[in-house]
Amino acid sequence: MSERATNCTASGVPLVEEGSTSFPCPGCDTASIGRSPRCRNQGVIYNCAECGYQGP
Ligand SMILES: [Zn+2]
Repeated sequence: MSERATNCTASGVPLVEEGSTSFPCPGCDTASIGRSPRCRNQGVIYNCAECGYQGP
């Protein structure tokens, strides 16, 4: 699974807003983590579906 995330990993909202981002998981470098602007601002914890990595 190396597709780019299309939804925020933490909240599930579509990554359509300005400020949305996605990046490879810091833990496994395989999964794509999606971040909505809201979750970035609030530092919401996400969980990687591949390796279980948690990050703010
Ligand atoms: Zn991972």
